[in-house]
Amino acid sequence: MNKFQINDVLLEEAISVAKQAMSHSYAPYSNFSMGAAVVTDKKLIIPGSLVENVSLGLAMCAERIALFSTVSQHAGTPKLLVLISKRTNGNITFPCGACLQVAMELGGPELEVLASDTKGNRDIELLSKLCSRLPHKVSQNG
Ligand SMILES: [Zn+2]
Repeated sequence: MNKFQINDVLLEEAISVAKQAMSHSYAPYSNFSMGAAVVTDKKLIIPGSLVENVSLGLAMCAERIALFSTVSQHAGTPKLLVLISKRTNGNITFPCGACLQVAMELGGPELEVLASDTKGNRDIELLSKLCSRLPHKVSQNG
């Protein structure tokens, strides 16, 4: 089995890209900037920034923008999703359920999710651990 490994250099680069994407957030309503980056099996790093709208339901999370962009850029299969933002109620902020569902579709249960606060404190978890019971598509290999 071809096991993809994310090395430390790629990981740090992805965190740097996510941090920059966070600074590009359009968050005039919540002021809760969020930046994301997806690392794919092609070793490409795709950024995403939170984009809000005066019609609040039209906001889009940074993580989904990054994940969707991997499709539009034909960048490969997501292997790592990085999210950087302020903490939520004192805890490191992990992606919301909608983003996790999209990550499950495009990256599958082995996708790693790294969440970081703005001070660089990090937590990393397998997507399958974060949401073991989310519906996920049946593997084409069985
Ligand atoms: Zn989300």
